[in-house]
Amino acid sequence: MVLTLQLRLLPTAKQAAQLRATMRAFNAAATYAARVGFEAGLRSQPSIHRLTYYQLREKFGLSSQMAVRAIGKAVEYFARDKTVCPVFRPDGAMTYDERLMSFKGMDTVSLLTLDGRELVPLIYGEYQRQRFDRMKGQVDLVLRDGQFYLYASITVPDGAPIEPADFLGVDLGIVNLATDSDGTTHTGEAVERVRRKHTKQRRALQRRNTRGAKKKLKRIAKKESRFRRHENHCISKQIVQAAKDTARGIGVEDLTHIRERATVRRKQRNRQGGWAFAQLRAFVEYKAALAGVRVVAVDPRNTSRTCSQCGHCEKGNRKSQAEFRCLHCDHSISADFNAARNIASRAQAACKPASELPGLAA
Ligand SMILES: [Zn+2]
Repeated sequence: MVLTLQLRLLPTAKQAAQLRATMRAFNAAATYAARVGFEAGLRSQPSIHRLTYYQLREKFGLSSQMAVRAIGKAVEYFARDKTVCPVFRPDGAMTYDERLMSFKGMDTVSLLTLDGRELVPLIYGEYQRQRFDRMKGQVDLVLRDGQFYLYASITVPDGAPIEPADFLGVDLGIVNLATDSDGTTHTGEAVERVRRKHTKQRRALQRRNTRGAKKKLKRIAKKESRFRRHENHCISKQIVQAAKDTARGIGVEDLTHIRERATVRRKQRNRQGGWAFAQLRAFVEYKAALAGVRVVAVDPRNTSRTCSQCGHCEKGNRKSQAEFRCLHCDHSISADFNAARNIASRAQAACKPASELPGLAA
């Protein structure tokens, strides 16, 4: 599995200006190389190299290897789409390979700029520290929200898979972001509080409708999505840990046929909820793969209408958004918990040979 590690750079003001200037020259050069190639009907590295290499060095002041990488950026784009001549953003990502960059210990990186090599301090968390030795080859220099980062792709072996005997079912939602079949609920309260606060601010800003207000709106949206991302990381980590600690797999709903289920559609109606929902699920899946925890997607139909105690399925079982009460056996339980238990048993059923299923044994 390939992961991207983010390392934040702490350049001085002077270094930041140098990095910015280098990125600008690099991207202008990549745009130039793409245009020359595009107009000449050439899309490969050697052919564009022949036409542009010396101009890139003279016109844009790039080092030899930077010129090669700028052409590479254009070629990479053409590999995805030959029909468009790209114009790269001035502060778009810049590739740094081993000839342009080297780590000096674990807290400094040497980066080649238009003015020569600069030693730039960097910071990162414990997670990145543990995987530092895997960072080889190339990284991308990225400018995001005024901060410089290095993005490094690393290959991590998937965890040794456990063949689970049992499953932890997980029901994803909006009110409760996730509920598992052990009864643990990860509420969306903190997320909802932040969202409400931001909605208020947003309304006020929208009324003002000035340029400053628009800028601020953008910043709020980013802040909110960062917060939700953080929450999703925490929740998915807890879910995967709970499954791993008990040698269980994880059952989730298969949402490829989402239209068949009205309640999911309702969950997804909120656009904000829609992407966040998908993100939480994606986080659960990749963390599970890393931990060697098996994830099984189950048929989502009627998971919220079926009694997890006796199996009776009826629309009226679901009293309200939050409450489930079986019309057959009178079992009363929170609706999300009930759904999570159904998902767990479906995941288990999906993994067992038919002869072991109750009622089907010969
Ligand atoms: Zn029942």
